[in-house]
Amino acid sequence: MTDLPLTRRAAFAVAAGAALAAGAPAAAATSPAGPSRPFLRRFALGSFEVSTITDGFMMNDAGPHPTFGENQSAEAVAALAAENLLPADRAASMFTVTMVNTGADVVLFDAGNGAGRRPGAGLLRERLAASGIAPEAVTVVVVTHFHPDHIGGLMEGGAPAFPNARYVTGRAEWDFMTGPDAPERLRELIAANVTPLAAKFGFVEPGQTAVAGIEAVDASGHTPGHMAWHVESEGARLLVTADTVNHFVFSLQRPDWHVRFDMDKEKAAATRRRILGMLAADRIPFVGYHMPPPAVGFVEAAGDTFRYVPETYQLGV
Ligand SMILES: [Zn+2]
Repeated sequence: MTDLPLTRRAAFAVAAGAALAAGAPAAAATSPAGPSRPFLRRFALGSFEVSTITDGFMMNDAGPHPTFGENQSAEAVAALAAENLLPADRAASMFTVTMVNTGADVVLFDAGNGAGRRPGAGLLRERLAASGIAPEAVTVVVVTHFHPDHIGGLMEGGAPAFPNARYVTGRAEWDFMTGPDAPERLRELIAANVTPLAAKFGFVEPGQTAVAGIEAVDASGHTPGHMAWHVESEGARLLVTADTVNHFVFSLQRPDWHVRFDMDKEKAAATRRRILGMLAADRIPFVGYHMPPPAVGFVEAAGDTFRYVPETYQLGV
């Protein structure tokens, strides 16, 4: 041996030589377990307990354009992606449901994609169970809007996935989505998953509550009756923004860019600016359905636009 410090490479060679000399197998003895991602975050909000549970994470073969920046060039979207260390030729779809235990109610915001409907998603019910919540324990399901990734999990095997729940949604959403102008592509799923539950639905306008402390906020534009929800307990506040923002970079840094999923592009952009401005000014946390799991964060104002700040240890410490 020498007194000179070993380089890492040299140290590895020495170690490997020693292992071979001892007759150890050259290959690793343990197979890779595969990638994993966080799917549960739980924290206190006043006397409420909030959980965020990820229903799924899917990588898409297509890049973010034209879903994001539909009215922008592919180059502009690729440049913003690169600036943020994101690929321009791949994008992830991420789905995270919020659950609030108020002590009196267990309130779920949306129901995920539904089991088996899409690869890599529809995991809400099994993950709820893993976090100790039986489907029967859910007393209220708030449906923010009637897109498939939010209503797909309302029914499982032809029966209500949350059998003891009542349901709350915006009156405008119900009226539009169950009416003659509902998008053709949504009709079958709405007929299968929403209208069978009609008798258990209650309808609200912005400013009305689902339960005490949980109040509807107008977030229309994404769909005609899309709602965000303001949650408050003992002065602690949180906004469940649903699909007001759909991407942690594109939606926050370029809130005016058109998004393919938004039914009314300009109204959705105005809603994004209003709600992001409020989150930045009030410095309160939000849960975004399509933010990176566990999907809890803050909004920082940056010039006339915004940046996403993932929550780390600000809540429930
Ligand atoms: Zn969505």
